Amino acid sequence: MAEYETHEYEVLVIGAGGAGLRAAIEAAAAGVSVGLICKSLLGKAHTVMAEGGIAAALSNVDDRDNWKVHFTDTMRGGQYVNNWRMAELHAKEAPDRVRELEAWGALFDRTDDGRILQRNFGGHRYPRLAHVGDRTGLEMIRTLQDHGIHKGMAVHMECTVVTLLKDGPRVAGAFAYERERGRFKVFRAKAVILATGGVGRAFKITSNSWEGTGDGHSLAYHAGAELMDMEFVQFHPTGMVWPPSVRGLLVTEAVRGEGGVLKNSTGRRFMFDDIPDLYRAQTADNEDEGFRYTQGDTNARRPPELLTRDHVARCIMREVKAGRGSPHGGVFLDISWIKARLPNAEEHIRKKLPSMYHQFKQLADIDITKEPMEIGPTTHYIMGGVRVDGESQMSTVPGLFAAGECAAGINGANRLGGNSLSDLLVFGKRAGEYSAKFAREQKPPAIDARQVDDAAKRAVEPFERSAGNEGPFQVQFALQELMQDLVGIVRSEAEMGRALAGPEAVTRRCCRAGVAGYRAFNTGWHAALDLRHLLTVSEAITRSALERKESRGGHFREDYPDKDPAAGTFNIVVRKNRDGGMDVVRTPIPPMPAALKAIIDEYK
Ligand SMILES: Cc1cc2nc3c(=O)[nH]c(=O)nc-3n(C[C@H](O)[C@H](O)[C@H](O)COP(=O)(O)OP(=O)(O)OC[C@H]3O[C@@H](n4cnc5c(N)ncnc54)[C@H](O)[C@@H]3O)c2cc1C
Repeated sequence: MAEYETHEYEVLVIGAGGAGLRAAIEAAAAGVSVGLICKSLLGKAHTVMAEGGIAAALSNVDDRDNWKVHFTDTMRGGQYVNNWRMAELHAKEAPDRVRELEAWGALFDRTDDGRILQRNFGGHRYPRLAHVGDRTGLEMIRTLQDHGIHKGMAVHMECTVVTLLKDGPRVAGAFAYERERGRFKVFRAKAVILATGGVGRAFKITSNSWEGTGDGHSLAYHAGAELMDMEFVQFHPTGMVWPPSVRGLLVTEAVRGEGGVLKNSTGRRFMFDDIPDLYRAQTADNEDEGFRYTQGDTNARRPPELLTRDHVARCIMREVKAGRGSPHGGVFLDISWIKARLPNAEEHIRKKLPSMYHQFKQLADIDITKEPMEIGPTTHYIMGGVRVDGESQMSTVPGLFAAGECAAGINGANRLGGNSLSDLLVFGKRAGEYSAKFAREQKPPAIDARQVDDAAKRAVEPFERSAGNEGPFQVQFALQELMQDLVGIVRSEAEMGRALAGPEAVTRRCCRAGVAGYRAFNTGWHAALDLRHLLTVSEAITRSALERKESRGGHFREDYPDKDPAAGTFNIVVRKNRDGGMDVVRTPIPPMPAALKAIIDEYK
C-alpha cells in the first residue's frame, strides 16, 4: 500500500450536520475516541440553513399536544409506510432532545411566560415547532458545535470520503481526500456513522446546498448496505422561482404558518378547492377560521395552505399547468395581506420571518411586508435512505450506522416540516450511543492494502481521461435535467423508462468525463467524484419509483394516480447484486403492535 496519512478512531462520523454532531457528542460522551469528517467547513453543513423549527410535543402552546398526537401526525403524513418504531421513538424522545439543546445553550423564541415558543406547521395538529425566528438550524448547529468541541472529538474539515473500507462483512473505515491539497487520507474505525444529508443535487431545481449529492446513500450502497424508500422524494411547495439565479431557494413553511396564503393569477385562494378526505375534518373551511388558527386560536382548524407538502406542491403544479400561474411559472404566496387583520403587521412579519424578509428584499427586490412572493415547488428532501434498525440505527452492514436525512424509515412517504431537525437529534443520539457500544465490543479491524490502493486508483481516474472530453459539470447538468423532467413531481412508466436509459447513457458520459490540472483544490475533479454518487442515487430513485405502481406521499404516478392499499404493506428496498447491478425488492412492513394502532385510531 502506498503511504497515506492514517487516522484511527473507535467511532468515525461522516458528516457534521445536526445528525453527525449529535452522534459525535453521544459517542464521545460514552468514552470512545471519535473522528468527525465533513466536506465543507465545520458550521457550514446544510442543517445551518434550516429555518422553520424543530417538531417536538412540548405542549408549551397547546396543552392538548403529546407524543401520541405527534406519532399519529407523523404516521398519517408518511401515509403509514413509515418504520412505526422509529416514528414512536421520535415522538417520545424529541421533547427531551429539545430541552437538552436548550440546556446546552440554544436560545429559542419564548412564550410570554418564558417557555420555548412553538409554531404551526403543515400536517402538525397543534403548534409544535420550537424555533428561533426563521433561523433555527443556525442556532442548532452553533449549539451542537460549541457543546461538541468540548467533548474531545477530532475534526477533519474539507475532507471528502470517496469509499468505505471493509474487513470482511464489517465496515473498517473510510478513504478520503482533502479538498484543499487533494491529498488522500485513510481512516480506520471500528464503527462508522453516515450522516451525510440529502440528494437534492440530483435534480435541477432544489433547495439543497452543493453538498447534497447523496454521498452517504451511495457509499452505503456500494459497501453492501440496503437503501429503502428511495422513490419518496419531497418536493417542497414553496421555493423561489425568480430571479433564475436563485430558483429553488427555499421559502420556509413558516410563512404559511404565520398566516401566508397561496393565490393563483386570478387572485383565487385555490387551496380551498382540494382538501383530501383524510384531512377534511381538521381543515378550516373558510378564510377567517384559517387565519384564527395561525394566530393561536385553539378552537380553529388549520388553513388548507398547511396541508402536507406533497399535496400543496401538486395543487400548485395544477394551477400552473392550467395557465393560472404567476409570470415566472409559480403561484403567489402572500403574507402582506395580514395587514388587514393585525396592527403592526409589517413589524410582526419582519420579526417572525427575518431571513425571508432579507432573502426576498436582497435577491428579488420584493418587500414581503407589502407584496406577494412568487413561488413554486423545489426538490427539498429525501425520505428514502440507508435501511437501518430503528433502535440502534445500524444498517445491514455490521458496524455501519446511518442517521439524519441519509437514513430511511421515520418519514415514510412524506416528511412533515420540522420532523427532520428532531429526527437528527433523536436518531443522531441513538446512532452515537449504539455505535460506541458496538465499537467497545469489537477488535480493531484490519484494512487490506489492495482495497486502499484500488480506492486511490479509482479516485484519480478522471485525470487519466482526456480533458478535451465533456467535463463533469456538463454531465452533472445533464443528469439533473433528466431527473427533473422525467422523475420529478409527476411520474409515469414511459418517462421513467426513458430516464432509466438516461442514467446509463449519463454513466457512459461520466466514464469519459475528464478533468485537467492537479489534485489541489480542483473543483472539476470534486464534481467528477460526486457524479458517481449522483448516478447511484438517481438510479435508485428511478428503479424504486418504477416499482411503486401507485401514488403515495411524495411519489405521484399519473399512470397510477390512486393509492393502492396493497402497496401500503411494503417498502421498496434496493441493494447491489453480485454482478454489480441494482436489485429492487418489496419488503413487507412488520405488523404494528395493537397499542400503537389504538393510538392512531384515537387521535387520527
Ligand atoms: C433551506 C432548508 C430549510 C429547512 N428547514 C427545516 C426546518 O425548519 N425544520 C426541519 O426539520 N427541517 C428543515 N430542513 C431539512 C433539514 O434541514 C435537513 O434535512 C437536515 O438539516 C439534514 O441534516 P443532516 O445532519 O442529515 O445532514 P446535513 O446537515 O446535510 O449535513 C451533511 C454533512 O455531511 C457532510 N458530507 C456529505 N458528504 C460527505 C462526504 N462524502 N465526506 C465527508 N463529509 C460529507 C457535509 O459536509 C455535512 O457536514 C430544511 C432544509 C432546507 C434545504
